[in-house]
Amino acid sequence: MEAGEFIVRFWGVRGSIACSGPDTARYGGNTSSLEVRCGERTLLFDSGSGIRYLGNRMVAEAPIDADLYFTHTHFDHVCGLPFFRPFFQPQNTFRLWAGHLGNRATLQQVLWEFMMAPLFPVAPAVFRAKVTYHDFAAGDALSPSPKISVRTAPLNHPDGATGYRVDYAGRSLCYLTDTEHVPGAPDRNILGLIAGADLVIYDCMYTDQEWANGHVGWGHSTWQEAVRLCRAAGAKRLVVFHHDPDHDDETLDGIGEEVEAALPGSILAREGLVLSP
Ligand SMILES: [Zn+2]
Ligand SMILES: [Zn+2]
Repeated sequence: MEAGEFIVRFWGVRGSIACSGPDTARYGGNTSSLEVRCGERTLLFDSGSGIRYLGNRMVAEAPIDADLYFTHTHFDHVCGLPFFRPFFQPQNTFRLWAGHLGNRATLQQVLWEFMMAPLFPVAPAVFRAKVTYHDFAAGDALSPSPKISVRTAPLNHPDGATGYRVDYAGRSLCYLTDTEHVPGAPDRNILGLIAGADLVIYDCMYTDQEWANGHVGWGHSTWQEAVRLCRAAGAKRLVVFHHDPDHDDETLDGIGEEVEAALPGSILAREGLVLSP
């Protein structure tokens, strides 16, 4: 990786539950997992089922030193964690971060409870890499290296969630999932975080119509709200993310056309997509 190179690669773009099959093959059925490279540094976001494929490729890079940031710990964002092969290489170091838990629990407690018998056969103690767990409060600023700034903001989601903005080499990338909007009252935390951003990856689980018809209070947003937020904040490019598992490829193609008409240059996340902010 060239010094100064800044990319994001999508390993899982699906919301709620992984879905395989011919109807979802083009956009992909794995749940949330992003790989961000800032020159020499690797930042991972969420460990949905997609992280297994990322791990299978990353093992060749050992020794690895990387940070993994969780938006939150709902199942679709952590389910791939035990299957991330670099955790089983002793020469690797990973710092795991979460900002949504408040004083309810630590990230370590939550992940250890998730990998606990009889729900799961082995505890995180089987990881051979050096894995450390770090709690912060959504809204805090983090700094994985002197050249990278990570800003955060609380999102509106059951049990909480954290939105992220990464600034590196004069460019910026935002990752905002899972979050629900309030019609007519754009989320000030989000507007602040995405102001002038180059790339905004946003929870577009539903259309406005689907959201209004039976999904209010479920903790997710719409592509129309994403467009409104990006316009209001002067953000440059929208990435539609966290696709509903009931949205097949054809449905997503249709949404893609509508988003493009509303905000030209927008893009639908799909597995394998690589973007530079
Ligand atoms: Zn989710
Ligand atoms: Zn969630």
